[in-house]
Amino acid sequence: MASGWAKDGAVQAQIDASVDEAVKLVRNQMAHGESLEECENCGIKIPDARRQAVLGATRCVACQEVEDSAQQHAGAINRRGNKDSQLR
Ligand SMILES: [Zn+2]
Repeated sequence: MASGWAKDGAVQAQIDASVDEAVKLVRNQMAHGESLEECENCGIKIPDARRQAVLGATRCVACQEVEDSAQQHAGAINRRGNKDSQLR
């Protein structure tokens, strides 16, 4: 039965690898694909320079900054839960 298990494992590993690769491919296409021509938040045209510099850009600089600061703010709130380590 040992070889049977090994075979099953090998097939499963191959399936997992194929799925992983497919998922990575799709994720790469989403994250590094074409940038949007217009900001998905406010609808202004995203400058070509930005679209080329930031692959997969979906927001204008202003909206991205708002998004980034919102994320930083969320991070700050999380860190506040750890006051002791912050005071050190
Ligand atoms: Zn915008």
